[in-house]
Amino acid sequence: MLIYGYQSQGFTGNLIPIVLAQNTAELTILGPSLAKQREIRILLKTILPSLPKVTIQLPNSVTTQEILAPLSLALLAYERHLLTLDCPAVLCYGEIGLGGVLKPSPSLRDIPLRCTDQAIGLVLVGRQTLLPSRSGNFELCECETIQDAGSQLCKYCLQHQGEKASSEENTTGAESLSDPFSNIIGLKRAKQALLYAVAGNLPILFYGPPGSGKSLLLSRIASLLPALTSESQQELSAMQAQRIDKPPVFEIHPGTKEADLMKGVVPAICKAHGGSLIVDELSHQKPNILTLLASVMDSRTFSGYPVNTLVACATNACSCANLGSVQGVCHCSEMQIDKFWARLGYPLLDRFAIALCLHSENLLVSEVNAPTFDYERIREVRKLQKQRSEQEIRRLLPLYTKISCNTQLSFRRSLLCCKLARTIADYEGKILVTQAIMQEAEQLYLLPKDRHYH
Ligand SMILES: [Zn+2]
Repeated sequence: MLIYGYQSQGFTGNLIPIVLAQNTAELTILGPSLAKQREIRILLKTILPSLPKVTIQLPNSVTTQEILAPLSLALLAYERHLLTLDCPAVLCYGEIGLGGVLKPSPSLRDIPLRCTDQAIGLVLVGRQTLLPSRSGNFELCECETIQDAGSQLCKYCLQHQGEKASSEENTTGAESLSDPFSNIIGLKRAKQALLYAVAGNLPILFYGPPGSGKSLLLSRIASLLPALTSESQQELSAMQAQRIDKPPVFEIHPGTKEADLMKGVVPAICKAHGGSLIVDELSHQKPNILTLLASVMDSRTFSGYPVNTLVACATNACSCANLGSVQGVCHCSEMQIDKFWARLGYPLLDRFAIALCLHSENLLVSEVNAPTFDYERIREVRKLQKQRSEQEIRRLLPLYTKISCNTQLSFRRSLLCCKLARTIADYEGKILVTQAIMQEAEQLYLLPKDRHYH
């Protein structure tokens, strides 16, 4: 089921689908400015008793007052597991006042029309809201508070469970287990890159302005990792001294100290072994954490313990965070941008197989073009990569030299590019790495210093 909000523009407006995706950290809002994100989060805390761990993508132009009610409702629905049900879509609009009271809204002429367009079955509004004419096929329900709206929604879902929303565009509702990208629209290249990284166990870095989908993609890694074999399950369980059933995902949050990662008989960072190590906001990490990360990526060990893990990171592209954004303007000078990247350290950047820039494309309006997703494929390609020798990868170096226009790259980077090319070829079921595949691999690593922003 999909919940819509309504954004007015004068006397008409647009429906905004509220798309939630589970994540592992805390409630994350993508799209609007940082200040607005903070404001929304603070207000949500006053409305709801607790905030679930989800990522929400919103259009950047959304106003806090208009989005708050549908957003609260979507979070309530998420916690009651209603969003995964097959039900016609629901619209909720009206401002929220103190104590979650839903205020009456001015009558909006185009609501019935919009509801018909999106096959909306239920409209939840504040008391004394007037609709011009009931031409639509929806139920209208006046609610005192947002909690009240939550109960009405629950009742509606139970009655209409199993009824599919008939609108063709309405495909972004529930998260389906068979496709971890099911409610991330657009970002085709980044999704593909992430699949390669997972299949090849190759370190990946996403960079770009806020709202470009970096964290959203990182949040999907947990569901992309292939299931543990019974062997690795035993190894991990023994190492962590607890039963491990799923590939572990360990996150390094900003402000983490080196000591935090070394804590424990087996160092805490080794919890990433056999799974993924995720570092969002890479530029906000302390310098010694960055050094430690580079060393783990190199040796795949820490203090003698194995940390064979998929390293996945995300960062802004400059210190004002606006580089690459179409909404905000970056005022950083070329030198400041260089300094920003130098702080991350080229030794660290050099260890990524993929470094991809994400632009702030509006995830909700771009076309649906997900790469085909295949768990079995990822598992097979992983197995293949393990069997491939370093010799085999080195034999690809001449092909790399032939296509590479950047002669200043280190030997390590060249080798990583060959590894990536091998992974892509395996993923696509090709026996040989062709020139086109090598080129594709090379283009998946691009830092701002190699591109022209200004
Ligand atoms: Zn900037």
